[in-house]
Amino acid sequence: MTTKNFDTCASFYLENGAFMGRLVRLNEVVSTILKNHQYPLNVSAALAETTVLGALTSSMLKYTGLFTLQLQGNGPVSLLVTDVTASGKIRSCAKFDEQKLNEAKTLRKTEDIIEEVPHLVGGGYMALTVDEQNGLPPYQGVVDLKGKNLSELALRYFAQSEQIDTLLKLFVKTPVGESQSYMSAGIILQKVPLKGGKEIDLNEQTLKQTREDLSAFVQSLKPDEVFDVSLSNEEILHRLFHQNNLQLTGEKSFEFGCRCSHEKLKNTLSSFDAKELDEMADDSGKIEATCNFCGQKYTYLRTELKKQEKHLQ
Ligand SMILES: [Zn+2]
Repeated sequence: MTTKNFDTCASFYLENGAFMGRLVRLNEVVSTILKNHQYPLNVSAALAETTVLGALTSSMLKYTGLFTLQLQGNGPVSLLVTDVTASGKIRSCAKFDEQKLNEAKTLRKTEDIIEEVPHLVGGGYMALTVDEQNGLPPYQGVVDLKGKNLSELALRYFAQSEQIDTLLKLFVKTPVGESQSYMSAGIILQKVPLKGGKEIDLNEQTLKQTREDLSAFVQSLKPDEVFDVSLSNEEILHRLFHQNNLQLTGEKSFEFGCRCSHEKLKNTLSSFDAKELDEMADDSGKIEATCNFCGQKYTYLRTELKKQEKHLQ
């Protein structure tokens, strides 16, 4: 068991297994991702929140391939995407329109307010994809971008797409002063569905009351508590759920990791048409491409990518 308080996911059960939960707190992972990108503050905060939602949601699932959370819309931030491998490697990136962002900022009366994710992304959808990378089609669940914040949006997803009773709270901490350190955190609880034969000992009335209590406990978690570097996951969970028969079942680590390679980007470039590739090439016939996720630069010869225009005629 790791003793790290951040960049981990703590798994637990409450009420004799009637609810399962995860607590995720990210520091180095989001700081590394955002330092690579150097996005404006609003975009960085939105991506930090999307990243922790991705980490939380993926940790509730059993999969061996790749989990992807993607928000796409017509707002100033047109794309937020985070993917998490089964071994806990996370990468994230965003696409945004600087002019639209500035226009939105001018329209706001107050400075330095971090805008909520659904507001930044505008009309569109959120998709969760699990690709087992075994040749079978990926599983995908989709919800439209309605909700006053990302937590509300995710709760609608779980209610509509998965029909799982869920409690959730997300947190983001932007850098203070000279510090470049972003943090994001989240806690999720889900009712464990009854499995054949194994009845969980809670009648309907008790269950309703328990759910209300748990919801109040989740909401009582405060940013200064969840981002307190001296507190362990166990201490935080014990403070919240000491009356709910808390059983910690394990801890797993997350780290930043990009899966780009010279070959993968070459495949992407090869899907461009010849004219686009000709325009991208410099005078010496070289094309430089940058990975959207980690900023790694790759150089290709124009001639190795695709037949020249003249061969196609
Ligand atoms: Zn990369």
